[in-house]
Amino acid sequence: MADMTREKCIFCAIIADEVAHYRVASSDLLYAFLDAYPISRGHTLVVPREHFSSLETTPEMIIKEMAIFVAQYAPKITRALDADGFNIGINNGRAAGQAVDHAHWHIIPRYEGDGLKSWPNTSTNAEKLSRVAEEIRRKI
Ligand code: 5GP
Ligand code: ZN
Repeated sequence: MADMTREKCIFCAIIADEVAHYRVASSDLLYAFLDAYPISRGHTLVVPREHFSSLETTPEMIIKEMAIFVAQYAPKITRALDADGFNIGINNGRAAGQAVDHAHWHIIPRYEGDGLKSWPNTSTNAEKLSRVAEEIRRKI
C-alpha cells in the first residue's frame, strides 16, 4: 500500500468526524476509538490528532503523551469491560503489519481463556545472542 497522505488518511477522517466510528476517549492532542475489526472486545486505537505517518516521524512530545495516555487508559478500559489484562501494540512498517499510515497504538483487552496466541518463541544460543547484541550496540 502506498504511503497515505493526510488527505486520504482514514484516521484523519475519523478524527474530523467525517467517517462513522466509536469514540472511547480523547485529549487535546490524542483521540481514541474502537478498532472496526477488533482482535478482542474493546480493542481501541490511540492516535495523535495530527497526522504523523509512523512512530519514527511522531514528535517526542506526542510520543510521551501517547505513552502516558495509553498507560492511563488501558487499565481503565480493562476495568470498564471486566477484562483480565491487556496488550499494547505498535505495528511500525509494512513488515511489522502497519496497514494505516497514521501513527497509532493498539490497546487490546485480554480475557482469561480468550485463546489469542502471542508471537511464537524461537530458540537461540549464547553466541547468537551475544553477536546480535554487539551488532545493535555498535550500530545504534
Ligand atoms: P495496523 O495494522 O496499521 O497497526 O492497524 C490498523 C488498524 O486499523 C487495524 O487493526 C484495523 O482493523 C483498523 N482499521 C482499519 N480501517 C479502519 C476504519 O475504517 N475504522 C476503524 N475504526 N478502524 C479501522
Ligand atoms: Zn492521518
